[in-house]
Formats: sequence, C-alpha cells, structure tokens
Amino acid sequence: MNLEITKALKALLSEPQKIVIIPHKNPDGDAIGSTLGLWHYLRGIGQEAQIIVPNDFPKFLKWMPSSDQIINFEWDTTKAKALIKQATVIFTLDFNHLGRIGQLQPLLEEAQAKFVMIDHHQAPADYAEITYSDVSMSSTCEMVYNVIEGLEGTDHITPDLAISLYTGIMTDTGSFKYASTTSRTHKVVAQLIEKGAKNTKAHNKVYDTNTPSRLHLLGCALKNMVIMEDFATAYITLSQEELDTYQYKKGDTEGFVNYGLTLDGIVFAVIFIENKEEGIIKISFRSEGDFSVNEFARAHFNGGGHTNAAGGRSELPMAETVALFKSLLANYKDHLKA
Ligand code: 5GP
Ligand code: MN
Repeated sequence: MNLEITKALKALLSEPQKIVIIPHKNPDGDAIGSTLGLWHYLRGIGQEAQIIVPNDFPKFLKWMPSSDQIINFEWDTTKAKALIKQATVIFTLDFNHLGRIGQLQPLLEEAQAKFVMIDHHQAPADYAEITYSDVSMSSTCEMVYNVIEGLEGTDHITPDLAISLYTGIMTDTGSFKYASTTSRTHKVVAQLIEKGAKNTKAHNKVYDTNTPSRLHLLGCALKNMVIMEDFATAYITLSQEELDTYQYKKGDTEGFVNYGLTLDGIVFAVIFIENKEEGIIKISFRSEGDFSVNEFARAHFNGGGHTNAAGGRSELPMAETVALFKSLLANYKDHLKA
C-alpha cells in the first residue's frame, strides 16, 4: 500500500464516520473474511461500521466470529437502504466494479458517501475516492492486513479479526498453493497465527463440514466431466435437475471446478452450473500457467476475475452454452497446448 493511500485513509479515519462495508454478490471466503476483518478493526478503533452483503453466503462461512452481525440486503432491505443513505464512508471489498453487487448497484451509485475500494481483481473501475487495487495480491484479506499495518493498527488485531483474515487468505489461495501465494502472504499468515488465529479450526470449519448430499453432487459433477485432451481442457456441467436431485445448497459447488486441473496435462478447467431461477448458466473458469481465464471470461461470457480464476455467465440454455464454449476453444488451441 503506497504512502498516498495510507495518508488518505488516516485522514478519513481520524474523524468519526458512519461506515458501511460491502463485498461482491455471492460472497466467498475472501469477501466475508475481508469485510469481517475490516469490520473488527474499525469497531476496535471506535468507528461505527456495518457490513451489508448483496445476498446470502454459504453455511461453511457462518461460523466466523460476528458473521451473524452481517446484514443481508435481501432479508433486511429497508435497514440496509437506510444505512447506505446515511453512510459517510463506504468500503467496497473484493470486487472491481459496481456491476458485481447485484441489486445494491443503483443504491451505491446514488450514495453520498466517500468510497474506498480494496480489491485484487483485474481492471478496477474508478468510482472510489481512495482506490487500493493490486492484482498481484493473493486476496483482499491480505490487503486488509496491509491497510491495518499501514495505519499502525496491528495492536488492534484480536483473535477474531485474525481468523477472519486467515480464512479469506486460505480460501483465495487454495490453501496457500496458487501462484498468487508469496513469501509475504506466508509472513502475513504467520502474523495472524501469532495474533491468535486458530489455523486448523479454519481449515476444518471450511473444508471438513461436507454433507452426504454435497459429496453425492460432487460425484455427479465428476461423472459429468468431459475431458478434451487436444485442448488441455476439462469441463463439468450441472443442470438444475441434478442440483435439485442432490438438494443443492448455496456453496455446495464451491471448489468443484478445480478437479479438472488435478488431471495431468489439463490447464483449463470450467464448470457450467444452471440456475433456473435467474435464467442463466453461471460459469467458473480456472487455469494453470499463463492462459488468462480473466480475458477469456471477459471476451466471451460477460465476466472477469483473475488470470487463473474467473467467472462469467451465459443466458443461452446449457447445451448451447457448452456448444459455444467448445467452438471457441479452437481459437485458443495453440495457447492451451503450448
Ligand atoms: P468463482 O468462479 O469462484 O465464482 O470466481 C472466481 C473469481 O472470478 C473470483 O475472484 C470472482 O470474484 C470472479 N468472478 C466470478 N464471477 C464473475 C463475474 O461474473 N464477473 C466478474 N467480473 N468476475 C467474476
Ligand atoms: Mn478475493
């Protein structure tokens, strides 16, 4: 974090503010961890702060300290609207443009508050007074740690704050294995453990709380996997019917896409998940090496993200979406097989 951002944040937080913190829609571990981490810090220094999520988040994140304080816009719309209207400062975390927050977008566009963006996605929009954007960062949680350190606030890191940031770094780095994991990431994680983050607990709570139906859904996904060796690609489909059969709950498909990459020689993995309610196919893209799924998602599926992890959507039915996807691969064959 550079000096200019540090100075601007210091000035902003030197006065009492009414703060709202917002992550992206369908919040993941990094989104919830970073908003909670920042929330614990801001509360700790005596600021008034609330977290508003655009929609619900998975059960495997609901053990996180004070996650029950998070306001869900879909359930508490009136309260959330009032808080956004009254806010003097709005922190937006773990997303790069206001199109990523669903129904909250028009409210934030009208809000009078000063905006602070903390994010590690490609192509940040410039709606914020203070933009801390760094695509080289492992996670927004690591960036929140940098903010706290920059504000000379590490004494305020409680065990609850520490485990929030630990969890988001853990989930966004695939448990410290993705290329975005640096020595600095490990130093931050070491500090968080010293501050009381129970690291084993975070892994158990997030990864070892499967239900039988989720494992059966995983079995279905793996059976559906199509391997296209010529393109070093593997993709999975899950129809609404299949999701219903296995009593799909939010978060159940998290991580499924990564199985494609565990195959030897596969560098591009994709999962297409039907969502009848929204009338879309939600797509997750993952890659190994320098094939940019961010660019692929941006160019063809109205999405984006990072070089090795991105998302997007299609409004075509499943079969047509998959056919389109397959037809696109020819253009990337040389790159994928390089
Ligand atoms: P996931 O596949 O786990 O949903 O998302 C992977 C990464 O891509 C995350 O960093 C996520 O924020 C981003 N992402 C997911 N879906 C979209 C999308 O529709 N648009 C954009 N711009 N980013 C997305
Ligand atoms: Mn993230």
